[in-house]
Amino acid sequence: MAIIMDGKLLASEIRTDLKKRSAAIIKKTGVRPVLATILVGDNPASVMYVKMKGNACARVGIDSLKVVLPENTTTEELLAEIEKLNNDKNVSGILLQHPVPPQIDEQKCFNAIAFEKDADGVNISSFGAMTMQLDGFKSATPLAIMAILERYNIPVAGKRAVVIGRSPILGKPVSMLLLNADATVTICHSKTQNLPDIVQTADIVVAAVGRPLFVKADWVKEGAVLIDAGYNEGNVGDIDLVNAAPKSYAYTPVPGGVGPVTIIKLIEQTIISAERAFGI
Ligand code: NAP
Repeated sequence: MAIIMDGKLLASEIRTDLKKRSAAIIKKTGVRPVLATILVGDNPASVMYVKMKGNACARVGIDSLKVVLPENTTTEELLAEIEKLNNDKNVSGILLQHPVPPQIDEQKCFNAIAFEKDADGVNISSFGAMTMQLDGFKSATPLAIMAILERYNIPVAGKRAVVIGRSPILGKPVSMLLLNADATVTICHSKTQNLPDIVQTADIVVAAVGRPLFVKADWVKEGAVLIDAGYNEGNVGDIDLVNAAPKSYAYTPVPGGVGPVTIIKLIEQTIISAERAFGI
């Protein structure tokens, strides 16, 4: 029977530790750490994600500061909001909810987030630090994926990992983390040819495509580890888990796999930022 890598369970384990750490910060400083979330527009999925992140803050005893901007916000206006949060000493972490409306230069805005407050690990300096194994915050979903592999004792060194997707927030950074963990990594994208054959070689498959049930069971090698980072309408991921999971050694369910760990890792990095700022 395949192992279910339970993200809800792992998130609750991490939450227990974070509650203690946030309480220690408040006891020492009298200040509650704050995660600032910026939502531009009213995309229903983004509204829901920001709400879930706010709830997650409350559950570990930190505050969230919600900044909501209209759909027609310009890059300059968003940069000005980010600058305010960078200069607000009460704010420990800043999250700009992805995606922003198309008139905004998203990467420019990500890059404007102060390095030490980039709890979602999206700016170019954070990416560089992560890739070069220097100190900095890591992209939250990739960090969650690595935490799941570690929690379930999945060996990574020397294994063949195939990542499907190369987005700046997911496919690319998770590929760097797997590489740094000594996997042999193949990164696939929309121009990749013979994708099923490449997936067939993988000991670890990371699906980060954004297409429902995209990875078919017959692409997957018997005994592979399946990480499904996708989350699509209808509560399904990017892997046809109903048929592929029974062939796997272990898999992340959708929902309840990568998602809950991503949120708790964002909160964890906010708390680390607060601990550093307060010298704890
Ligand atoms: P994205 O920016 O749209 O990137 C999708 C990637 O998939 C791109 O690199 C694209 O290739 C590749 N792709 C598209 N069609 C393909 C095909 N036919 N064959 C191979 N590759 C293909 O998406 P994202 O932001 O990385 O998100 C991916 C998924 O993860 C979504 O379902 C999203 O909801 C989910 N997600 C989950 C979490 C979480 O916390 N669980 C967090 C973030 C995202 P090109 O680069 O060539 O276009």
